[in-house]
Amino acid sequence: MKGLSYLKPGVIKLQDIPKPEITSPTDVIGKVVMTTICGSDLHMIKGELEFINKHAEETGRGVVLGHEAIIKVEEVGSSVKHFKKNDVCIMSCTTCCGKCHYCKEGCPAHCLNSIGICGCYLGSIIDGAQAEYVRIPYADFSLYKCPEGIPLSSCLMLSDILPTSYELGVLNGKVKEGSTVAIIGVGPIGLAALLSAKAMKPAYIVAIDLDDSRLEKARSLGADYTVNSGKEDVVKFIQGLPSIDGRLPGVDTVIECVGSPVTFELCQNIVGVNGTIANVGVHGRPAKILIDKLWIMNIDITTGLVNCTSTKELMDRVADGRLDPSKLITHHFKLSEIEEAYKVFSNAAESKAIKIVIENDY
Ligand SMILES: [Zn+2]
Ligand SMILES: [Zn+2]
Repeated sequence: MKGLSYLKPGVIKLQDIPKPEITSPTDVIGKVVMTTICGSDLHMIKGELEFINKHAEETGRGVVLGHEAIIKVEEVGSSVKHFKKNDVCIMSCTTCCGKCHYCKEGCPAHCLNSIGICGCYLGSIIDGAQAEYVRIPYADFSLYKCPEGIPLSSCLMLSDILPTSYELGVLNGKVKEGSTVAIIGVGPIGLAALLSAKAMKPAYIVAIDLDDSRLEKARSLGADYTVNSGKEDVVKFIQGLPSIDGRLPGVDTVIECVGSPVTFELCQNIVGVNGTIANVGVHGRPAKILIDKLWIMNIDITTGLVNCTSTKELMDRVADGRLDPSKLITHHFKLSEIEEAYKVFSNAAESKAIKIVIENDY
């Protein structure tokens, strides 16, 4: 079968690889219906994660990327209870055993049975879904049947981008009706956070980015204010916003979707009293905490890896129309064209790509 493999830093290839087989009774083999590319796939391709480089070298054929997919069940392991052949399912980016300490504590991102790395190991430590077929471990806890009436491409957004932005940004950030919210970085995850924050009916949302076209997209998805941090003083802008119910300057929730020391510091300069900084961004370097400024303000800082425990709740919101993830889809490709899709996705400044749907045409 064909699979898009990461071979070594900077090198990916759509190549012939063996079709996956059931290796544990809790596995499902799924025929991939559609998949997509994530920002974290680009991080991997750059060679930023040493353990993946090592693994890709050891296999001799790289590792198939992709942790977001809609699959059609092809084969089920003997102990899989909830799925049968031909079920069409959302493959969650977090696979988990459902039984270990962290799974039972509601933190399956750190499932102890997911090879000790984290729940998100599909498409990094084991072959992922940018292929004709994928093996899904612990299928009973890692798949969700696609509901009738929602386009499959919208269901695809429930694999990763919606739960990630909702759990780490909106829920951790305690966004609620009447909240004031700022989102730093409105790439795919920031825009998804905007959509799910908007559904909570906040007083306003400020989108902050360096790219005017992303800010324009944020405005079209419901941002009340947009600020280009390369051109304007963000702190001044936030302090100049009208006070709601006598709140002091600053916003209730800052959602960080960039993952850099500069943006993390900016969060701390725009959060208001009793506010929350909800980190979503992937940080590769240490960042400063301005504890001398924050300690007196009753600020929470939250971090995390997505648990995908909100998938069902988000699915219901998509089904009743409160959340429309189709607005995030900008491009369509076939699996046979996936190398081209990567070029378009990695050149988002020009292509304006947000999420790309890749259908299996083999
Ligand atoms: Zn992802
Ligand atoms: Zn577990």
